[in-house]
Amino acid sequence: GVPLRNTLNAVLVNSGMMSIMSLAGGYTYICLGGRVPAEALSTQLLVPLFATLLVMQVINEMLIAGMSIVRGTDFRGNFSVYATGIELLSGIIGLLVALMYTQQDLALFGLFMLVLVLGMLVQRQYALIRQNLEGLVEERTRELEVKSEELRKQAIRDHLTGLFNRRYANEYLQKEIAHSKRQQRPFSIAMLDIDHFKQINDQYLHDTGDRVLQRIAQLLESNTRESDLVARYGGEEFLLYFPDTELSGACMHCEALRKIVAQEDWTNIRSGIRTTVSIGVTQGTSAQELADLLRCADTSLYEAKHEGRNRVCCQECTD
Ligand code: GH3
Ligand code: MG
Ligand code: MG
Repeated sequence: GVPLRNTLNAVLVNSGMMSIMSLAGGYTYICLGGRVPAEALSTQLLVPLFATLLVMQVINEMLIAGMSIVRGTDFRGNFSVYATGIELLSGIIGLLVALMYTQQDLALFGLFMLVLVLGMLVQRQYALIRQNLEGLVEERTRELEVKSEELRKQAIRDHLTGLFNRRYANEYLQKEIAHSKRQQRPFSIAMLDIDHFKQINDQYLHDTGDRVLQRIAQLLESNTRESDLVARYGGEEFLLYFPDTELSGACMHCEALRKIVAQEDWTNIRSGIRTTVSIGVTQGTSAQELADLLRCADTSLYEAKHEGRNRVCCQECTD
């Protein structure tokens, strides 16, 4: 999966580095009195040659780091203990090949080359496995991220209606109320309950009840502003939050919602259904906590039910 351009780039950079290292190695060899053409690379020469190798490796890493800095990429991303190890090992093997070759023990040299080729094959296999594993880890990480995003959504949404759930609504309202108080801005909340919903479940199937709940959720969601919050607060209870809205405005809006539900045509769910909702609305003032406001909205809702349902009751939250 590596682009050809990157591969060519790596080959060029590496062969350039290899040439420089070979030249440096050869130069050291000659400086140390080695003969040309090499007849017998003495074992004593191996130590200084190995030291040259190490120095070249350090220079190599420094060049890579320098290139990263020039390109503005992360230097640690280009540095790998694994790659450095392989490069060093190649150098050592190169020295051993030279040693074997110049000592002209052909059988030993052949055997060494065989071992070398086998070693390279094993190393290639290992590199492939490593690459696959890295790919797999990356893929799994991405999958986990998608999954955790899904879970996060599920945790704040009600699975039947897709609306925000009670827990999310509570957290959201706590923050919003604190914010509105600091800014001294009005806000209203409403509690909506479906009238005689138990009858729908009893008369038709529970599944029909579910579909009515879903439709009402849609109606509420599509008929409120983006900045308003609509949440499923209980079985057939919905909570509405209207920021920057006085009681009168919220009341008018809830009245419109009540009408929309009452006039809805339910025949494509089930003929004969008639559903209405009762709504209790209240306005928050600076002193109240969320629990007080919910209690006030509930009191208004109770009044709406008490007065005959399919209506909206509004009152300031004073207690
Ligand atoms: P009221 O006008 O006084 O509100 O009467 P009601 O029948 O709506 O009130 P009640 O609280 O007695 O009944 C609520 C019903 O809502 C009972 C329960 O079976 C139903 N319900 C709650 N959650 C769900 C749900 O997820 N799906 C369905 N189908 N029904 C539900
Ligand atoms: Mg209820
Ligand atoms: Mg009800």
